Amino acid sequence: MESKHPANACRRCGATAYKPVIARDASGAMMPSGTYRCVGCKLEFNTVDQWRASTEIERTAAH
Ligand SMILES: [Zn+2]
Repeated sequence: MESKHPANACRRCGATAYKPVIARDASGAMMPSGTYRCVGCKLEFNTVDQWRASTEIERTAAH
């Protein structure tokens, strides 16, 4: 009952799934680019934290 809102959901559209973005690398092979895309709103992100509704975005540019 209380889990009406899934912990893992897009903060923009509420979709509960995302897929890795596949890109062609230098040798022509299709490889995961390290980026993910929401299946709902097509938001692209590098970490799930950037996509999840339940997590506040940290504004630190930590790399
Ligand atoms: Zn979305």
